[in-house]
Amino acid sequence: MEKELQNVQNGTLSVWAGEREQRAFNAAEIPVVISVAYTYGDMDEWYDVALGKKPGHIYGRNTNPTVQAFEDKMAALEGAEAATSFASGMAAISNTLYTFLRPGDRVVSIKDSYGGTNKLFTEFLPNMGVECTLCDTEDYAQMEAEIAKGCKLVYIESPTNPTVKVVDIARMAAAAHAVDAMTVVDNTFSTPILQHPLALGADLVLHSVTKFIAGHADVLAGVVCGSGKLIAQIYHYREINGASLDPWSAYMAVRGMKTLKLRVLKQCENAMALAQFLATRPEVEAVYYPGLPGHTHHDVACRQMENGFGGVLSFALKGGMDGVRRVLPRLKYANCAANLGAVETTYGPARTTSHVECTPEERAALGIAEGLVRLSAGIEDTEDLITDLRQAIEEGYKD
Ligand SMILES: *Cc1c(COP(=O)(O)O)cnc(C)c1O
Repeated sequence: MEKELQNVQNGTLSVWAGEREQRAFNAAEIPVVISVAYTYGDMDEWYDVALGKKPGHIYGRNTNPTVQAFEDKMAALEGAEAATSFASGMAAISNTLYTFLRPGDRVVSIKDSYGGTNKLFTEFLPNMGVECTLCDTEDYAQMEAEIAKGCKLVYIESPTNPTVKVVDIARMAAAAHAVDAMTVVDNTFSTPILQHPLALGADLVLHSVTKFIAGHADVLAGVVCGSGKLIAQIYHYREINGASLDPWSAYMAVRGMKTLKLRVLKQCENAMALAQFLATRPEVEAVYYPGLPGHTHHDVACRQMENGFGGVLSFALKGGMDGVRRVLPRLKYANCAANLGAVETTYGPARTTSHVECTPEERAALGIAEGLVRLSAGIEDTEDLITDLRQAIEEGYKD
């Protein structure tokens, strides 16, 4: 992180971090460098850059100035020494896990991880001889007991997708360190505006940048942040295996991040208001949002989250999938779609979004009702979103 940005808050970091070196043609904004290669007349200089003895770039699969600006901005926001980026959130997650895990190693994680991540734990990692133990997400004692048996890596998300359960990051990181295991946290749902896993004791924090960080549902990207030592290992895996972030997507992420704090604070405000509204409706069987005092781990959420409880909530409508069919098509100011974290409010049943990869039996085992709806609040005016949801529910359940 640049020296002059050391005593500023997240909103300022989102705008300015990573940008000081970018002054091609005196352009005020970060240049999108699409060149794959960099040319050197001086053979010695070329060699020094290639060996990392001098700053500079050689080839686009390894590094790129636009991508580097994005990584520096992310590292500053997460309070990390370094960051490296990927073509998608899943690439960030899989590359991070494959960097450190070997046959015979053991991972302890939660049952409620993102659907794609869950597949890594139930299919791809076991295929290469890694044992994965998935615990009940809200049973901290079970998780601690499994970690204490010994493992290489503890992997958590908080809040989780789609039932927004809260995992005590500091508690799990302490349990992991007691057995010399590494703690990796997927911070996609919180963003560094709301939660700093590294400060809570985690070793690595990663994101699907596709969601809140880029924020406009028009770019796929992933990132992992941590110590220079760990990030260098992950970077090495990625530079060889090739899931690099392209410069245009990096620029789109940088551009989105300029408004990260404004967006996330408004999304938190809207999510809280919608959760409170849904909790008053007789057509709604359950509402899940860590900002509601009735949430199982509301106290932990208050302790480890900083400016709000996130933009995502979920709710179960009476009548299951029939209730979903009655309500969702009647919404006027919302996309029914598989993404989240966009400026537009987005609704999607878990069975077609976060957990589409799972069988109905697997979803049932996770406590995900077929009619559970995930709601990602956008930045629209709060009253308009409530009015829209009220009319959709009232019309939908009329007869
Ligand atoms: C979307 C998502 C991912 C996967 O990210 P992609 O960019 O779609 O590959 C991982 N974790 C969480 C929590 C997500 O919401």
